This record gives sequence, C-alpha cells and structure tokens, in this order.
Amino acid sequence: MQISVVSFDGDMTLWNFLKVMRHSLKHTLTALQRQVPIPRALELTVDEMIAIRNQFAEEVKGKIWNLEKIRQGAFERTLEHVGHPDKDLAAHLNAIYLKHRFEDIELYPDVIPTFDVLAPHFKLGLLSNGNTYPERCGLEDRFAFVIFSQNVQVEKPDPRIFEITAQQAGCELAQLLHVGDSLENDVAGAQNVGAKAVWLNRDGVPNNTKTQPDYEVASLTEIPAILGLER
Ligand SMILES: [Mg+2]
Repeated sequence: MQISVVSFDGDMTLWNFLKVMRHSLKHTLTALQRQVPIPRALELTVDEMIAIRNQFAEEVKGKIWNLEKIRQGAFERTLEHVGHPDKDLAAHLNAIYLKHRFEDIELYPDVIPTFDVLAPHFKLGLLSNGNTYPERCGLEDRFAFVIFSQNVQVEKPDPRIFEITAQQAGCELAQLLHVGDSLENDVAGAQNVGAKAVWLNRDGVPNNTKTQPDYEVASLTEIPAILGLER
C-alpha cells in the first residue's frame, strides 16, 4: 500500500528539546538561587534538577499526564531537596521555566525545507510524547493532525497511539510513515502496528538494538527521496 501520511515525532526530531530544556533550567536555577541564597541551593546543578524531575515523573507515571503539572511538581520537589519547601515559589519558578522553554525553542534547519517539499503530496502530522505546541515554534498550519500523549493519555511506543494517529489522519496504518529519533518509541512503535518507520539518526550513533528501521536518515531532507520525490 502506498504511503499517504507522514507523522513526525517532535522532541529531537523537529526541535532540539534537550538544548532548550537545559537552557530554561539554567535561567530557573539562577532565579531560585537569587530567591533562596542558602548553601544547598547555591550548590544545586541543572543535572540534579533533571534527575529530580525524572524521578518525580516516574513516580506519577499514569497518574499525572499534564507535563506542565509534572514540571511544577518537580520544582516543589527541588525546593524540598534544598531544604526550602515553598509551593508558591515553585509555581513562580515553573512560570519562568515555561516562558523560556516555549519562547526560546528553535526548529532544526532541515524542518521547513522538508515540509515545503512534502506538503503538496502528503498529509503531515505531529505525534509527540512532549508538550511543544506547533504554534510556539512557527509550525502553525503545517500539520493536518496533532497528537500529544498528554491529551490522549497513552504514549509511544504503545500501539494505541499509532492507531489514534491513523484514525485522525484518515488512513490505514500501512499508509503511514512515521519519522523519529527514538528506535524504541518511534521506529519499533510504528513497525509494531504495521506502519513504516524512518529512524532519524542526526549524530550517526550505532544501532545497538534489534530494531531495524525501514529507512535511516541523518537529515530530514533525505525523506522526500524515500517517498519518491525529486529534490
Ligand atoms: Mg524524540
């Protein structure tokens, strides 16, 4: 069956989430240290903040889906960790974090040129376990469908989120090509339901898994050729 729909992962596929996350945490840490200049806060690092957030997210997995609420809970945890529990300050820090996290995000340079080539021929969509909204990074009106795990309460690689994707796209799973940087969430997830998958391997890392992507690319600009379009 011919591909008619291309779904894209978001974080690390269309934008560098890790970079904007660390950058936003650095701003938040500076604000925290200005408000709470005690030794334990002054010693706090961005890496510790990331570890606290991941630990908290693991604890509330399946209970809290909204990623902004999880982030706020993580800041409450962080303040407890430095010996200064303060829910109001956590809310203030969360606002600072989210402002940078949403306003300072940048697309990879291959996104728009690739979308321009694909858009006349394929239905394009976003399928993300994250919370970067297309309108925050210049992708408003670019997607025929947008699916966030925090809204449908099931996340990649669960087969159900790919079934929801095909449903919203109005295609069969065999007509769907999913593109993403995660071999587990994106590639294996899509292949498990009979969709095709492109592994975006921007840094040329070795594949040490049993998952064999249908296609592997180093840049999104290689995708039109996969789909039979000239560049
Ligand atoms: Mg990703």
